[in-house]
Amino acid sequence: MANIPHQYTDYDSLDTITAEVCVIGSGCGGATLAYKLAEEGIDTVILEKGGYYPSSSFDNRELNQSGKVDAERGLTTSNDGSTYLTYGELVGGTSVHYWADSYRTPGDRLAQWHDQYGVAGHGAAQLAPIFDDIEKRLHVAEMEPFYYNRMNALFRDAVHALGWEGAPVKQARRGCAGSGHCMQGCAIGAKQSQLVTSVPAAMALGARVYADLRAEAFAFEGRRATQLTASVIDRRRNRPSGKQIVVKAKHFVVAAGGFNTPAFLLSQRRLREALPALGKHFGMNPTVFAHGLFPEPITLWRKPPACYGVEGFRLPRHDAAGNYVEGGYLLVPNQIQPGLMGYSVGGFDDGAADWMANLSHVGGATGWLDDCPDELGEIRVDPRGQRELAYPYGPTTQKMLRDLLKKIATVNFQAGATRVMLADLRRTELTSMDQLGAIDQIEVKPGNLFIAAPHPFGGCRMGQSARDSVTDSSHRVHGLDNLFVADPSVFPTGPSVDPSITIMGFSYIAAGHVAQALGQRLAPLPGA
Ligand SMILES: Cc1cc2nc3c(=O)[nH]c(=O)nc-3n(C[C@H](O)[C@H](O)[C@H](O)COP(=O)(O)OP(=O)(O)OC[C@H]3O[C@@H](n4cnc5c(N)ncnc54)[C@H](O)[C@@H]3O)c2cc1C
Ligand code: SF4
Repeated sequence: MANIPHQYTDYDSLDTITAEVCVIGSGCGGATLAYKLAEEGIDTVILEKGGYYPSSSFDNRELNQSGKVDAERGLTTSNDGSTYLTYGELVGGTSVHYWADSYRTPGDRLAQWHDQYGVAGHGAAQLAPIFDDIEKRLHVAEMEPFYYNRMNALFRDAVHALGWEGAPVKQARRGCAGSGHCMQGCAIGAKQSQLVTSVPAAMALGARVYADLRAEAFAFEGRRATQLTASVIDRRRNRPSGKQIVVKAKHFVVAAGGFNTPAFLLSQRRLREALPALGKHFGMNPTVFAHGLFPEPITLWRKPPACYGVEGFRLPRHDAAGNYVEGGYLLVPNQIQPGLMGYSVGGFDDGAADWMANLSHVGGATGWLDDCPDELGEIRVDPRGQRELAYPYGPTTQKMLRDLLKKIATVNFQAGATRVMLADLRRTELTSMDQLGAIDQIEVKPGNLFIAAPHPFGGCRMGQSARDSVTDSSHRVHGLDNLFVADPSVFPTGPSVDPSITIMGFSYIAAGHVAQALGQRLAPLPGA
């Protein structure tokens, strides 16, 4: 039989799964960790509540694919409807949906996590050989000029003309055909998602993957989680089938992703009561868009996204009195398929229809905020166990968003756009850079501005004490000997760049601690 994940159709006669390590989630965090453990011969299982869809099942149709790769079709929002939560729910996790931009964590951010939040053993020196290994495994490289679509090229030239600090963005691809369907899942497996990298690599080394199986409740004895109950999801209806399976393991690792790990742990009463920081300090890189109408064809949905980016505004600038002046975000050319463009263009009137009718000439830019550490949000669960997400959009966050909107409008005009439209409810339109002041009038309030959240983090912050953090620096949940977290939930703040490489790097370190708890060591990496 082919080495593929187990699925709901296989579970009728299965009541118990046993393993040395049980990993919940098959994304960058979980699959990478499982691969590192399997490499050492550690008996590892992955539970994944989403379905298994091989690349060969992807049909490149945006609406079909959104049902497979985009959890809740990308339509789930924060409590007040202000923000679209985008993540994956399938074998391979969000990486099947992602753009594959691959940034190493900046040294200044790792130093800040160490100095301000007490994170140990995750410094630039520890991570350098790990990042080398990940980049080699995922074929991370700058894209050749051939792969730049018209918007990427116009954006790059505009950034040069504006004198901003930009650079080609390294990406995780191999044998890319330039189709532009990365967000819908790459049908030829060129995008180096976990579906085509760590998941099959871990399985080839003996790890077992159980798709359509949702982790639900731990049983605890003293300082240990002894077993986990999981529900089978009937993939045809995306609902629990009623059957449950018990997983018995020596160690459990939660890697259910930034939106779901805090919610899952909060649904465990013992943890909710013992860990006051659980769910707190949550961030999500609020992401905004400016669409531009160009005199020439752009065809925004072809070739890979974001080949070039602006890092010059990554860190915010403050005046002598400490007031925010500028920055705190990354900018890239936008890449959006027609369906998603449709729901980011506000309204149903002739003006909205006009933009959609000119779609082939619509380009744009996007950018996302490195969340302000003083204005973070919170994940909670309601009495039925449903996730709730509250994000305050505090005063500094609003200033940063307006500054970011001005930058993405500016780069559109510099690139040649004749009209720029912001993705707000009023569809604010500008016809020249002189009108950027109109952005100060845009209200950042629930539902008024199209804001997406592609990079959740926090909620299980790493630190030194159970008073203000959830895990210690070995990724172990405070107060328990055999429960670990390995995904961006442990980040004390955002990493200030796209997070996938940081998530995977942290999973290598977490795998070392889990192996150590089993009396084993990971083989040293070259250069370590
Ligand atoms: C559109 C988009 C573009 C992006 N582009 C980039 C990019 O270019 N570069 C970059 O670095 N990052 C990018 N990101 C972010 C990046 O993809 C994610 O941060 C990363 O993939 C998250 O990995 P993870 O392991 O933390 O979580 P996930 O990949 O979300 O994995 C968690 C898995 O756990 C499963 N799960 C959840 N709860 C349970 C449960 N109870 N039981 C069993 N399984 C469960 C989920 O179904 C999911 O498959 C992008 C994200 C999006 C949405
Ligand atoms: S652009 Fe390249 S990586 Fe993206 S879906 Fe097409 S072939 Fe795959």
